[in-house]
Amino acid sequence: MPAPAATGSIVPVLSILPWDIAPLLKQRSRKLWGELPVMIGPDGSLITVPVGLVVGAQSGPTAYVGAGAHGDEYNSMEITRRLIQELDPPAVNGVVIGIPVQNPIALASGQRTIPNQPWDSDLNRQFPGQAGGAFTARLAHRVFSLVARANLVVDLHTATSGDRYVPLAYLPGRDLVLERSREMAKAFGVEVIVETPIAGTLIGAANDAGIPGIIVELGAGGLLERRIVEFGVHGTQRVLGLAGILDSNERVHADPVVVKELVPVRTECGGWFHSFGEAGDRVRAGAAIGEVTRVPDTIETLTAPCDGVVARRATRGLVLAGDKVFLIAQVRA
Ligand SMILES: [Zn+2]
Repeated sequence: MPAPAATGSIVPVLSILPWDIAPLLKQRSRKLWGELPVMIGPDGSLITVPVGLVVGAQSGPTAYVGAGAHGDEYNSMEITRRLIQELDPPAVNGVVIGIPVQNPIALASGQRTIPNQPWDSDLNRQFPGQAGGAFTARLAHRVFSLVARANLVVDLHTATSGDRYVPLAYLPGRDLVLERSREMAKAFGVEVIVETPIAGTLIGAANDAGIPGIIVELGAGGLLERRIVEFGVHGTQRVLGLAGILDSNERVHADPVVVKELVPVRTECGGWFHSFGEAGDRVRAGAAIGEVTRVPDTIETLTAPCDGVVARRATRGLVLAGDKVFLIAQVRA
C-alpha cells in the first residue's frame, strides 16, 4: 500500500538535535532550528522543545533567550521566535540560543502550568531542575542544560490570562550578579524593576550559577499584541547590544521605578471589574483607580494604596472577592 501523500501539516519542520548541542556551535556564521529531545511521553512519542541556534561569524559571549515557561504567554513566545528569525549570523558576535516554547505541554493545553501535575506544575518554580525528579523537574533540568552554557540570560514572560503587565523586569537572584542584571533590565527599556528573590525561577537558578539575567513581563496573557511584540524584540536586541553580541548602540533613556515588592489591591466583593486606566499609569494615593459593579449598583470603589505606577492590572471582566486586580510599584517622594 503506498504511503499517504505528505502534507505540510504533518511533516515535521524541525530536525531532532543531538542530545549534546556543543558540536553544533563549532561551525561559525550559521543559523539552525531544531528540536531538543527532552523525554519520552506517555504515548511513546518524543517530547521536544524547539531551539533556534544562531552562531555568529565572530566569537563573543553566549546569550540564552527563553519564553513560554507558561503556556498562555504568547507575546513572549512570538518575541523569541522573531528575534531568532531576524538575527543575521554574519552580524552576530558570539552565540544566541533561543527557545520560544520552553514548556510545550502547557502550550498544547493552553494553560499556564502543566495539567495533571497536582504538585510542582509550574515550570518556573522548578529550576535548575532534577534529572531524576518528577516530570516538571526533568523538563526544567533539560532546558537548564542550555541555560548553563550562557553568559547572560533573558527569560521572557507575559501576564497570566486575565491580566496585563507594563513592561517590567523581575530580578529574582543574588547580589553576585545584581548590578549586571539591573543594567540588562535598563537596556531592555522596562518601566518597572522588581528586585525580589523568587525560588525556583530559571533566572534565579542562572544567577545562582553566576550568570546575570532578567525575567521580563510583557503585555496581556492569552493575547498576541503586535506593539508589545515589536517592543520585546527591540528590547532583547538592546540587551544583546549591551553584551556586545550585536554591534547596535541603541540605548533607551528609560528611568525605571525600582522596588523590592509590588503593592497589591484586592477586591472585597465579587462582580464585574472595571479599571479606570491602563498598566503603566501613574497614580496618587487614595485616587479611585477602578470599581466593581453587580446588579443593581456599584458595590466597591478601588483606590490606590500609595503613589506609584500601575505595574499590572486585571483585564478580565469578572472577579471574585479577594482577587488581586492591581499591582502597584510604589514611588516614594
Ligand atoms: Zn510567565
